[in-house]
Amino acid sequence: MDTPGVKPDGAREGRRLHDFAARLYPICRSITGDGVRQTLALIKARIPLVVREVPTGTRAFDWEIPDEWNVEDAAVIDADGRRVVDFQRHNLHLVSYSEPIAKTLSLRELSSRLHVLPEHPDWIPYRTSYYQRDWGFCMSARARAALREGKYRVEIKTSLAPGALTYGELAIPGRTREEVLLFTHVCHPSLANDNTSGMAVATALAEWIAKEPRRFTYRFVFAPGTIGSLTWLKLNETRLSRVRHGLVLGLLGDPAPLCYKRSRRETAEIDAVAAHVLEPAGRVIPFSPYGYDERQLCSPGFDLPVGRLTRAVNGGYPEYHSSADDLTLITPGALQGSLEACENIVQTLEGNGHYVNLNPKGEPRLGKRGLYGTLGGGDPAEREHARLWVLNQSDGAHSLLDISRRSGLAFPAIRAAAHELEQARLLRPARARAPTASVNRRTARAKRAGKIRRKS
Ligand code: ZN
Repeated sequence: MDTPGVKPDGAREGRRLHDFAARLYPICRSITGDGVRQTLALIKARIPLVVREVPTGTRAFDWEIPDEWNVEDAAVIDADGRRVVDFQRHNLHLVSYSEPIAKTLSLRELSSRLHVLPEHPDWIPYRTSYYQRDWGFCMSARARAALREGKYRVEIKTSLAPGALTYGELAIPGRTREEVLLFTHVCHPSLANDNTSGMAVATALAEWIAKEPRRFTYRFVFAPGTIGSLTWLKLNETRLSRVRHGLVLGLLGDPAPLCYKRSRRETAEIDAVAAHVLEPAGRVIPFSPYGYDERQLCSPGFDLPVGRLTRAVNGGYPEYHSSADDLTLITPGALQGSLEACENIVQTLEGNGHYVNLNPKGEPRLGKRGLYGTLGGGDPAEREHARLWVLNQSDGAHSLLDISRRSGLAFPAIRAAAHELEQARLLRPARARAPTASVNRRTARAKRAGKIRRKS
């Protein structure tokens, strides 16, 4: 059966998204290291990403960039010299951030270091130990059960040393310096839905946005989860008042319907726009301080108007954080449907706005301005209704999206009517509405601290 928001798998754009996810999939990523650099290099081959390196030890609020981690090889080797757990066969076999080690252990001594998923005996779990020095291996419960008593050689050739955290950023300038922030994480190894799907969709979205002039400046950040978003926030703290709207992107390739998680504000414009675009089949869920980088972007000290777009939610599908989250879980049709939802959100944000009727006492005579009757394309009755709705509701308080929802008329029809009425001098844009109180307070504080210069 067809799922709304999922396109047929044969479509070209969907194949292209899936092919790119497949190129990203094999790379062993973590929160630092060469896997992130290789990933960003692949993305940079398509969009002009600026890659930033922030040194180990740099503080980001209550956190600190850890030593950089890189892997050369890792295996558990039995008495016959067979690599019974082998990083070369699947990078999930090694607990991320495992410290280097070379020693021989009995199976009993080794057991507490071997992680399995008993409820899914053929899947390898995904485990990390970023902030506590540790080591371990992940394997299928079936392979674990097949290990015989005896001695095992453990060899983990990794390095943990001062280096950098790497992230990528792309700003696509628009007519205004007001920004739409698009955030996706790049820290998971071979997991397809979480997070190659987000990287593939974000890359394609950036290409699409760059194709024509836009009203907003679009800022894409490809960063490791948590420490990456905190580092970005720390380095950009004085410019955050420019962020008008934002989305965290991830888990966009599985077959579940699209799901939008509201911003902490719950009533930001992005919340209304995303909910509108996802209708009727998508889900909208309330904000919670759990999940992806909205945890940081929507922490109370920032409270950015940023929601999250996914299909399944984190932890909400059985394959989550296991080897079964592979390239067969994500489909070209789901990826394409996700990209199209992002494009619709962008188009609605670009076209939305508040207007003021310049002739509010009674209906203006549309006929003498050439705005009555059957001129132009589309359904004449709908065009006329759209003009009357826009004129009636444009008191500066209702956005075009509000008018579309109240009238039941499609947003593009309302947008087109506003454009025609503006051309006919019956409508003008309302003065930009004041940013919310928390942004005002933040801006005032930054100004007092001399952090914001006049022009910014
Ligand atoms: Zn994850």
